[in-house]
Amino acid sequence: MRNRLSLIAVLCLLIAPVAILAQSVPLAITGTLVTPQEIVPNGTILIQNGKILAAGAQVQIPQGATVVHTDGVIAPGLIDLHNHLTWNVFPRWKPNQEFGNRYDWQQKPVYNLLMSEPHYELVSDGLECEMERYAEVKAITEGETSVVGGMYAACDQGLARNLDYDAELGSKWGEIIYNVFPLTMSESDVAQAIAALNAKPRGSLLIHIAEGSPHDASAAREFSEFEGRGLLKPGVSIIHGVALTPQNFASMAKAGVGFIWSPRSNIELYGDTANVAAAKVANVVMALAPDWSPTGSDGLLGELNYASVWNGSQNPPPFTDRDLVMMATSNAAALVGLQDSIGSLTPGHAADLIVIRDTGKAHNKDAYWSLTHATPEDVDMVMIGGIATYGNPQLMRQISDSPVETLRVCGSDKNISFASEKQKQESFAETELTLGHALLEMGRKLAPLSECGN
Ligand SMILES: [Zn+2]
Repeated sequence: MRNRLSLIAVLCLLIAPVAILAQSVPLAITGTLVTPQEIVPNGTILIQNGKILAAGAQVQIPQGATVVHTDGVIAPGLIDLHNHLTWNVFPRWKPNQEFGNRYDWQQKPVYNLLMSEPHYELVSDGLECEMERYAEVKAITEGETSVVGGMYAACDQGLARNLDYDAELGSKWGEIIYNVFPLTMSESDVAQAIAALNAKPRGSLLIHIAEGSPHDASAAREFSEFEGRGLLKPGVSIIHGVALTPQNFASMAKAGVGFIWSPRSNIELYGDTANVAAAKVANVVMALAPDWSPTGSDGLLGELNYASVWNGSQNPPPFTDRDLVMMATSNAAALVGLQDSIGSLTPGHAADLIVIRDTGKAHNKDAYWSLTHATPEDVDMVMIGGIATYGNPQLMRQISDSPVETLRVCGSDKNISFASEKQKQESFAETELTLGHALLEMGRKLAPLSECGN
């Protein structure tokens, strides 16, 4: 990263100790709680030192606590188990055709020209950490507090939680291995994955399998190869699985293997998505995730929206809005063994939460509906580890006196704080400028932070 310290970064250095001190004062936020197992109207969540102390309808607020009233929906921060962060600097990729499987489009000249070559040129220019920073901010504007799929551990600056390469998390909660191509897994990769899955605490393996059309034989064959290598084990979650059969889902449920569903990217690239109705009948634990923004959603709020529209088009719809919210929170946490740390509003959990405008109220719909129909302008706050990282200026000011930058997201001003970053860096405006210039030199444009629900 650059060494230039902007005025904002200098201010961060000066004010950071005050912000850290502020975390030790208990903070009570009121609103409609989505735990996510249940809805608690007029609830309160009490936070101190980065942890949830209490959450419910009858929470005693200690003397001296900061109290912030909202009429929003307070839910666990969204957990994204399937992304490819550095690619999210690119605008939407519209190949105008459907493919058989992932190997088809990855060898197309148009993909190399528009995506792959510029991506690796940015990396060879030393901009990989700027790319990841941009992608993490994008994820946060979509209500995400945890992500996977960064390319470089050195770029983990402590903004969102990077579950797959956070060394501290790894030692506490088991290693999380994120693997894109099962066919290129060497014997030693397989041995390493099995060792992680057998370790205590148990590790996790998130792996792309059967990504393609439901009728694509080579996509389908990936599952039997994977099973043949002894990898159908608890702690494994299969990503995509468009070509999986009901029998495959039954084998996964029996083996304690989870499933990560990315409907938008599937439908845009292959014209169809996984047989999630069969996965549900088989009782496979499922999470929802956006894949990447070029063919998936900008982030998890967008993917929740997409999944809920898709769900409504099915007869009968396999999911309730509550199911979908759990797939983006508590189910996702459970798939990587973090159910005691993140993913629900439970005392002792990290204070990773979001506040969303309760748009359902006006339509006589519940808080699950508000969460599955929210767009980025409805995000009032994103808190990560007790730090108000992003949100509406008015709400942010009530919680923290950390310096912030202002972002224009879908016509609304939002504030973002970089106080949690381990090293003070350039301003976000400079990150955007640097990436924008580099992309322009290749004839490409920096993607907007948000497509605003489109
Ligand atoms: Zn992927």
